[in-house]
Amino acid sequence: MVAHQLRRRGIRDDRVLEAMSEIPREDFVPDEAASDAYRDEPIQIGHGQTISQPYMTALMAQELALTGTEKVLEVGAGSGYAAAVLGALAGRVITVEIVPELAAMARENLRRAGRDGNVEVIDGDGSWGYAAWAPYDGISVAAAAPEIPMALLDQLADGGRMVIPVGDWLDQELRVITRQGARLDSRVATFCRFVPLRGGEGWR
Ligand code: SAH
Repeated sequence: MVAHQLRRRGIRDDRVLEAMSEIPREDFVPDEAASDAYRDEPIQIGHGQTISQPYMTALMAQELALTGTEKVLEVGAGSGYAAAVLGALAGRVITVEIVPELAAMARENLRRAGRDGNVEVIDGDGSWGYAAWAPYDGISVAAAAPEIPMALLDQLADGGRMVIPVGDWLDQELRVITRQGARLDSRVATFCRFVPLRGGEGWR
């Protein structure tokens, strides 16, 4: 997976490559999908949701440019896999999940993989962010929104970065937003297709 799906496609951050070679992805997919865990595609995890394609998890993590000290917010814990990867790269991770059964599953998967030490799974609608622990040096949104939720921009720290798929439910661009003081810059990292972000309202 690391050589063919990640390195060859331009994932260069050694810490991302190392984290993804160490974290057992099979611990984050349903038992019956264990043999498919390293395939180059999203995998169904129940409740109409998927664990993202490995490349997408790697690219999002790389774009956050983490060094090990950061506080990171993830929206959409799903299986917990991306949260485990972010946990290996940052200081602390808060991941919010709107489907209670998936939040419970993410917690259990993280525990089983021994990755729950600095990763907290919160039940709730992450399109409002998680104000209690804001601001965040990194925000990773694992579901696509028509616009960027205002609350997430407000909770992005000075110098922080956010990755978020923006678009309709078939065609999206993965945007990388950086904050420098009051200034927000945005660029497109790739095109993508994520499940839709639910809940929320406050679009910008
Ligand atoms: N990061 C996950 C990918 C999960 S797919 C992984 O590595 O497995 C996206 C997830 O976002 C789904 O679990 C879905 O239930 C969740 N989601 C969608 N809208 C949400 C919202 N508003 N708040 C929190 N989670 C949300």
